[in-house]
Amino acid sequence: MDNSISMEKIVSLAKRRGFVFQSSEIYGGQAGAWDYGPMGVELKNHIARFWWKEMTQLHDDIVGLDAAILMHPRVWEASGHVENFTDPLVDCKKCKQRFRADQIDPDKLARKECPECGGELTDTRKFNLMFKTNIGPVDDGSGLIYLRPETAQGIYVNYKNIVQSNRMKIPFGIAQIGKAFRNEIVTKNFIFRTCEFEQMEMQYFVKPGEDEKFFDYWREQRWAYYAKLGVRMDKLRWHRHGPDELAHYAKDAYDIEYEFPMGFKELEGVHNRTNFDLNRHQEFSGKDLQYIDQDDGNARYIPFIIETSAGLTRQLLMVLCDAYEEQKVADKGTDDDWRTVLHFHPTLAPITVAVLPLMKKDGLAELAKDIRAELKEDFSADYDQGGAIGRRYRRQDEVGTPFCVTIDYQSKEDGTVTVRDRDTMLQERIARAGLSEYLRARIKAYKRV
Ligand code: ATP
Repeated sequence: MDNSISMEKIVSLAKRRGFVFQSSEIYGGQAGAWDYGPMGVELKNHIARFWWKEMTQLHDDIVGLDAAILMHPRVWEASGHVENFTDPLVDCKKCKQRFRADQIDPDKLARKECPECGGELTDTRKFNLMFKTNIGPVDDGSGLIYLRPETAQGIYVNYKNIVQSNRMKIPFGIAQIGKAFRNEIVTKNFIFRTCEFEQMEMQYFVKPGEDEKFFDYWREQRWAYYAKLGVRMDKLRWHRHGPDELAHYAKDAYDIEYEFPMGFKELEGVHNRTNFDLNRHQEFSGKDLQYIDQDDGNARYIPFIIETSAGLTRQLLMVLCDAYEEQKVADKGTDDDWRTVLHFHPTLAPITVAVLPLMKKDGLAELAKDIRAELKEDFSADYDQGGAIGRRYRRQDEVGTPFCVTIDYQSKEDGTVTVRDRDTMLQERIARAGLSEYLRARIKAYKRV
């Protein structure tokens, strides 16, 4: 059996077990959009919660924000998105397919040859990625509004509000998780690149001249985050942007890349955005956006910004790919020799603990339900009594449940239960009374094997 990991296998498991569905599937699907099912929404929420805790709770100098998706259209002129947020685009005159010019073979592009059918390509033109719509009752163009292509601008336009309302002192950060929209031309590789996605961004405001120091600091912090998330660190690498890759606002930029089944790809960016954004918003809004530094003789300046910008939905794909394993667990020559297991960190797993009665009869089901009701207060706890116990373990392995608590006849006699570990499949018998404590300690001590 081929147990290598492929995107097809991830997509198939994601659908089969309720992680991710194609948007509007019964109508043939909507390109660039995906729906998160019962397992997927839990996983997504758990990743978001993990990031939020890391960035806000564990950093005294970072506060949160939830800005609106719809913003004043001048925001996007100031930010440079109206002018610069474009991809170079070519169309094939023959097969009518559309490509990003920077993603096709340069020789073919020079010859204007379609990479799919060999037909003739059009000249390269700029294509703006922002979705436009109309706000208000009149549809004459006066109500032009964009769906935000990034969450960062909501932070910049609120920076003064937050300094004033929360008495923030530089250096400080503002964190936000929210939807962003981009009219991506190529949306392959499942949820890697989509038109609607979620970002987890943090903008850190610093004194000019201290930007390089904090840029290094945030690079270290973001690398450490992934180690804590429990993913395989040998699958990650840094990519520094060369001069031709740097965005119009950036002085320096590094991406953290992950080795997905289709190769190393960007996971998140750490950018030194200088004072570009606040300067531009000051210019376009006419409002004074200088910071008054009381610790420096009331010096006035426009702060520099270090940005850490991650995709939540892309991180979910990374976590899925990283966790996925097809493992040989027996040698009988049947399909049962193999199990599919997701090695999620227990804090990310959609279900933390499943309670399984060995039998439905003789009061075991009642006892198991009782234990599950108790665990539900503290953990996301599932109950499953259907089918052979081995099958039930496999079902939980497939959605990455780290612990299965099995209730057997001995449980009735002496008040003990067995806890099966997802990764090692080893079982341990412990007293029911200490179950919550035991699980909490195991979650805290978790290390990927
Ligand atoms: P690319 O050059 O690949 O289009 P980018 O460098 O413009 O992306 P950023 O603007 O830096 O990306 O966005 C920050 C993060 O947001 C990315 O690292 C990625 O995780 C996520 N992201 C960006 N675009 C998408 C998308 N279309 N779908 C899913 N996630 C995205």
